[in-house]
Amino acid sequence: MSRWAIPDWLEVEVKARDKACVYCGTQLIEQVPPQGPRKAVATWEHIINDANLVTRENIARCCVACNSSKGTKRLADWLKSSYCKKHGINKDTVAEVVKDSLRANP
Ligand SMILES: [Zn+2]
Repeated sequence: MSRWAIPDWLEVEVKARDKACVYCGTQLIEQVPPQGPRKAVATWEHIINDANLVTRENIARCCVACNSSKGTKRLADWLKSSYCKKHGINKDTVAEVVKDSLRANP
């Protein structure tokens, strides 16, 4: 179990699926580099901010930069933020798992 109470099997599955940030597509790195930017470090993300939704549809990996920008915002609201505009992130550029979540929860 990870500190976010994600079962091991799900952690393995999501790590295999999300090699890049599900939002901005940055190639994820596993550990904070000794020097250099840490914004590409992988973090665990609940696409819908509900700690009880621990499913392959709601658990994803994204970069530190997107995670801290999204915070507790609803996905649909965050996609309208200046961060997403600046980084060219929208409903058409995000990963499939995020698109599925948007379709299910518009
Ligand atoms: Zn990102």
